[in-house]
Amino acid sequence: MLDLKQIGTSESRQLKQAQDRGQLSHAYLLLSSDEAEALNTAYWLICYVNCTGEKKPDGTCPACRRILAGNHPDVFLIDTEENKQSIAIDQIRPLKQELAKSPLEGDRRYFVINHAQKLTLPAANAMLNLLEEPAAPVVTFLIANNGGQILPTIKSRTQIINFSQQAASSKDRLLLANGMSQEEVDQVKSSQEVDQAVKYFYQELREHDSLAIVSAHQLADLVKKQKQGTKAWEKYVWILLKKWGEKDLEKGDYQEAANFLADLMRVDQMRQSNVGFLNNLDYLALKWQQ
Ligand SMILES: [Zn+2]
Repeated sequence: MLDLKQIGTSESRQLKQAQDRGQLSHAYLLLSSDEAEALNTAYWLICYVNCTGEKKPDGTCPACRRILAGNHPDVFLIDTEENKQSIAIDQIRPLKQELAKSPLEGDRRYFVINHAQKLTLPAANAMLNLLEEPAAPVVTFLIANNGGQILPTIKSRTQIINFSQQAASSKDRLLLANGMSQEEVDQVKSSQEVDQAVKYFYQELREHDSLAIVSAHQLADLVKKQKQGTKAWEKYVWILLKKWGEKDLEKGDYQEAANFLADLMRVDQMRQSNVGFLNNLDYLALKWQQ
């Protein structure tokens, strides 16, 4: 499901600037551990270019809607087919023919290759041929979660945007701004597993899912398992929860998000009076069960 709100902030800005200056590259490799976010970002740019609404991209005008629904004649999405582990050359070949055609609505066409790390070698080589055709009015987005699995020859023909790198530095700033010391920030460096657990926990809370109580325990175990800096990890979890709450508040979900943030502040006070981490998570899970 494409979602123009779940995008890389600095990455979409970077693409927008390139578009506005007429400097959009003919091929991008978007690398992100969160492939959905990278895919959304590519579609965000395509909608931005084609949107007929006032606030571009609105995601609601006819052009945006057709792009997001996969019905726009100038936008092609290649992805792994159901029950298949890889992208075969047969899926790439038709693009070659498309390359020769002119755009039907805008002034260029877009090829989006999702899960590009799953291109078979012949498919990757066919892709390479497409990328060598600089004259065609086509912008190609390759989306991948692992740059190590992309052919160097493909990499050298694309402009690489590395989401995790930019996310990492903006995350550091977030943590420092929320009272963590640099030492603590360094202790919570490899956080993917915890990030995921916090995200699930937050979603369950917000959906008033009774499973949140189970996730609270899993999250507490996960934090206990970290080799160093238990206190830093605990702080980290609270900062992430706050970030999620604030994000929803920005999206216009005032009442529920404000209630959540108020509860989070209460928990923070409990934390400072030495109530244990798991008890605090439990408190949230129980409070939000109803
Ligand atoms: Zn639009």
